[in-house]
Amino acid sequence: MQQTQVSSNLTIKPEISAPELPEQKVAISIVVPVMNEEQSIAILFDKLSEQLDSLGQTYEVIFVDDGSTDNTFVELKKLHDEHPGIVRVVRFRRNFGKTPALVAGFARCHGEIIFTMDGDLQDDPEEIPNFLAKLDEGYDLVSGWKFPRLDPPSKTFPSRVFNGMVSTLTGVHLHDINNGFKAYRREVIEDTHLKLYGEFHRFVPVMAQWRGFRITEIKVRHHPRKYGVSKFGASRFARGLIDLLNVLFLTSFLRTPLRFFGALGFWTFFLGVLVDIFVIGRRIFYGQQIHNQPLLFVGNLLMIFGVQFVLTGLQSEMIRIRYAAGGIGSSLSPASINGITGYWHCHFWASSSRKCRMG
Ligand code: UDP
Ligand code: MG
Repeated sequence: MQQTQVSSNLTIKPEISAPELPEQKVAISIVVPVMNEEQSIAILFDKLSEQLDSLGQTYEVIFVDDGSTDNTFVELKKLHDEHPGIVRVVRFRRNFGKTPALVAGFARCHGEIIFTMDGDLQDDPEEIPNFLAKLDEGYDLVSGWKFPRLDPPSKTFPSRVFNGMVSTLTGVHLHDINNGFKAYRREVIEDTHLKLYGEFHRFVPVMAQWRGFRITEIKVRHHPRKYGVSKFGASRFARGLIDLLNVLFLTSFLRTPLRFFGALGFWTFFLGVLVDIFVIGRRIFYGQQIHNQPLLFVGNLLMIFGVQFVLTGLQSEMIRIRYAAGGIGSSLSPASINGITGYWHCHFWASSSRKCRMG
């Protein structure tokens, strides 16, 4: 795999004064999705800047305000005004969720190394050098593993079950895939971020491994939530399981849908044939009536389903080929994403203090 030119600890000249141009590359971007975290933001930025200044590398912190209804945006604007060029803020008109918030941050960041972390002070910026050291070993994505995890059992137990399932079904053996504290080489987010939707932020490592990137995990300190409340209830696990099914399908059969639907169709049809042979056999050898046997209808239905599955597979292949040949959606630009979801409609506070609407 091609490595980025800029390693996490050299090459980019230390430059603490903020670059004026938003387009200017920086060594490290930190993307922080926040929703109603007014009390945590300033403390988090202080800790982050202390840590990042000590590394002597250029950096930017991109906060994505995911439709906060408290004073989060006021706090963010204050930080932005105090640290122009370093603190950048994207604001959503309403709450769209963590995945769109991360996507918006990824699309705006300029770092060669991109971190994502939660804005509630549960992730510790002092872990940043450990992530960088791991990336320097040649990994493309390093995921945090909260150890020990300081959440109530109502969260840790389902999370353990979920992690076990993801690990078994996807072959991505991480203990804490849902952890928001992660570090990526730029190539990873450029490759995957446009395909994130729904709540797919949980599955970036699965997709990254599928795309051939090297992923690993490190244990990270975890703090109990001090201010505000968790934004995710138990329903996240039900949604996570549905998303897991989706990701499994996408990573296994996205390019070969006919293999999935074809096999399913073939075996369903075959089962239907066997059932009907059984029914006809009973007619021939035991003289049983055919017309009043429910099994006959079961067999017929299975054969119809089988044909339908194969047709679905063929249809999917046609869509895939159209997609690959440059049809609609062959390259999802921010504009086309805008068309689909509308989540680019936000205020963006660039380093020039200009307020401009993206959508
Ligand atoms: N968050 C967000 N949008 C949402 C839900 C959460 O931006 O719809 C942010 C939240 O403010 C926090 C991070 O995502 O910075 C993780 O959320 P939370 O701490 O509630 O998750 P938990 O730690 O309970 O898993
Ligand atoms: Mg949290």
